[in-house]
Amino acid sequence: MSFRATVLTLYPEMFPGHLGHSLAGRALERGDALIEPVNIRDHATGKHRNVDDTPAGGGAGMVLRPDVLATAIDAVSPEGDPRPRLLMSPRGRPLTQARVRELAEGPGVVIVCGRFEGVDQRVIEARNLEEVSIGDYVLSGGEPAALTLLDAVIRVLPGVMGNAESGTQESFETGLLEHPHYTRPAEWEGRAIPEVLTSGNHKAIEDWRQAQSLKLTRDRRPDLLAGNDDQLAK
Ligand code: SAH
Repeated sequence: MSFRATVLTLYPEMFPGHLGHSLAGRALERGDALIEPVNIRDHATGKHRNVDDTPAGGGAGMVLRPDVLATAIDAVSPEGDPRPRLLMSPRGRPLTQARVRELAEGPGVVIVCGRFEGVDQRVIEARNLEEVSIGDYVLSGGEPAALTLLDAVIRVLPGVMGNAESGTQESFETGLLEHPHYTRPAEWEGRAIPEVLTSGNHKAIEDWRQAQSLKLTRDRRPDLLAGNDDQLAK
């Protein structure tokens, strides 16, 4: 069964974008994942096919209309569709690797990409849209956010990454940031690879990597350790 993503957007030509290449590109080719962009404008009516209007109460920008968006959502995701409906939004709950794994285990997603000032609040409530943010900064539209979410989800689908282990050891998967990496040449611009990594002692290498992970996380992202007394005690 493939993971099916339907993306509601005003810019369907932005998909699959970078996901047409490399790891995700091959997953799409094999049919492990499907990305179906749908133009919100195709569901607008009237001579001008307006999708947006001025904000009630005044202020800058435009707001996506609830009627047009709801018609589009209902057309691609009728009642009974088991897929969660996401709205990319800086106000949403920040995306985590745990949520990415959860989504990858499901049948797919319906993603709404906002534009302009955002979307009418009533459609968020009436169509039960889960607001998801990809970070504390503001993009000009939800499309790059949707591509980012789909990138993260597709790479953890079964069979997408060659070496299954290279998924579970990574940053956030263990609750920590990943240790540094090195490769040949053994010496470069006077810098050597840490000796332990060339020692052949697997236990020592594992311990070193774990210690580096912990140190990096303490220095850069102490928030990841908060509440994880087990790790802090080490
Ligand atoms: N006025 C809004 C920002 C609108 S940005 C506010 O202040 O909250 C336009 C669209 O870009 C949004 O509707 C959303 O779909 C998308 N977007 C912007 N930043 C995002 C982020 N950090 N994460 C996810 N989507 C984002």
